[in-house]
Amino acid sequence: MHQETHIPRLLHTMDELEAGEAAVELDDKEPQEVLAWAAERFGRELGICSSFQAEGCVLIDMAVRLDPNVRIFTVDTGRQPQETYDLIDRIRERYGVKIEVFAPDAGVVEQMITRHGPNLFYREVNLRLLCCQVRKVLPLRRALMNFSAWVTGLRRDQWATRSNIRKVEIDHDHGGIVKLAPLADWTEDEVWDYIRANQVPYNALYDKGYKSIGCAPCTRPVAEGADPRSGRWWWETGAPKECGMHCAIETGGFEHELAALLGGHGAGAADGAERGPG
Ligand code: SF4
Repeated sequence: MHQETHIPRLLHTMDELEAGEAAVELDDKEPQEVLAWAAERFGRELGICSSFQAEGCVLIDMAVRLDPNVRIFTVDTGRQPQETYDLIDRIRERYGVKIEVFAPDAGVVEQMITRHGPNLFYREVNLRLLCCQVRKVLPLRRALMNFSAWVTGLRRDQWATRSNIRKVEIDHDHGGIVKLAPLADWTEDEVWDYIRANQVPYNALYDKGYKSIGCAPCTRPVAEGADPRSGRWWWETGAPKECGMHCAIETGGFEHELAALLGGHGAGAADGAERGPG
């Protein structure tokens, strides 16, 4: 049985031309200015998406200072480290915010684990991507049905696939809503300078050598000076260090299995790939 998807009526659409102009105008602006512009433009249809990595914590701190009632949401994969759940509690207490949580479809997770076991991701890349689709990509798709614009912590120097991101762009993978990356031109050092200067709560795993934090079984610490994302899916070679949340991944290898798990409903029907009328 799949989760029901309620599709709210969203009002604040933006076309490619306006997004392009905003991207140019905001490219050299501070993250707070980008957030302020987005809050003005999208109101309650703006959502801060956080997986509670350092960048996401910085954005929450900045956004709450601008608007204590800002909407914050997360995808809880069910496999995150205890330290991430502890951090969510600390952020809820520190800022007094509600965090909207979107979880995977329990029935699909049950089928996936029944067919492939709980640690399917270690066996082959396509099974890892299948797990990421079920636990991350589809819940995110459902979450984004509630927003006209979402804020991410993406930075250009994180990974090759992120080197060209703009601070404002149309998200064609999610029905043409707006995707914002206020920290696009920040370095890792700038992120940590902000955290220290503002005593922003952060994930305790960073103090244990982690540089990029995702699900517990798929993340490990990295040596000093190593690529920060090399601790993600470290057993894979030649596969993208991405899960599909920020760029569509098509291999031809996991899609058939995903469709089978979704029982013929298709990813869109189950988790809202199709947006309703604006
Ligand atoms: S990061 Fe690992 S556990 Fe998390 S959704 Fe992807 S494959 Fe599954």
